[in-house]
Amino acid sequence: MSNALYRGRFAPSPTGLLHAGSLSTAVGSYLEARSRGGQWLLRMEDLDPPREVPGAADDILRTLEAFGFEWDGEVGYQSRRHDLYRAALERLIASGHAYACCCTRKEIAALARRGLDGYVYPGTCRHGCPEGREGRAWRLAVAEGERVVDDRLQGEYRQDLARDIGDFVLLRADGFWAYQLAVVVDDADQGVTDIVRGSDLLVSTPRQLAVYEALGLSAPGYCHLPVLTNAAGEKLSKQTLAPAISADAAASQLGTALALLGHAPPADCAGLDELWRWAVANWSLSRVPAGPLQLPHS
Ligand code: GLU
Repeated sequence: MSNALYRGRFAPSPTGLLHAGSLSTAVGSYLEARSRGGQWLLRMEDLDPPREVPGAADDILRTLEAFGFEWDGEVGYQSRRHDLYRAALERLIASGHAYACCCTRKEIAALARRGLDGYVYPGTCRHGCPEGREGRAWRLAVAEGERVVDDRLQGEYRQDLARDIGDFVLLRADGFWAYQLAVVVDDADQGVTDIVRGSDLLVSTPRQLAVYEALGLSAPGYCHLPVLTNAAGEKLSKQTLAPAISADAAASQLGTALALLGHAPPADCAGLDELWRWAVANWSLSRVPAGPLQLPHS
């Protein structure tokens, strides 16, 4: 029976093909939703065309399908939802939470100190752009004080946005929507109740909580799964040349992902259908390790 109270999602960016790291995130978020009888949505985060790999979005969908994932409803595409982001930005401007910024990267680099995720914006345009200059980006004015994320796997994560991050971008100077705005607008619009994703995004979560708050929306629950690393301890990603997973050996790759997530399937459990049945019946977050996990050599 479907539990209408739980709605999860997987939100890949088509900037590369699925690799073992994104597969384990998909598996964890899927099992958390299905084991609670909840829904699981799929959303393509295709907001950054210059960074996209042609064909990756379709490839990701085909691969997920071949692995036996079943999503609820149509796949959402962020590239088709610009009007929603625009409306949210307009609300934030009207309520005084967002302001225009004219600073270039170079100007920011010359003035700013480094924080947890790049430079901490020094606030130059917070009370208006300097004479004769016009803002092209939009930023959220963050409040001082610590924010706490109560993460279901990582525990309490604390961050002071003003000190560690600074006023952050909602609409980029190049005209593209920032992930921090779009992800909140979509999760809220799609009624997502629980976000299960990789722990590399924990650092972004306080920014997203600030956007929920500024929009007057209630935030979902969070659970950040361990990221997978290669033998050098680097997070698997396109940048670290993580190999794409292929549907040919789907069952054995699913078995590996389950084992990494603390759910090694029994030896006599073979084949995709059987693995999924076992995993949905046996899934428990309490068995999932919190820390980074090294991918075994194949
Ligand atoms: N699109 C993001 C990524 O692929 C994930 C966003 C999210 O789960 O909030 O890293």
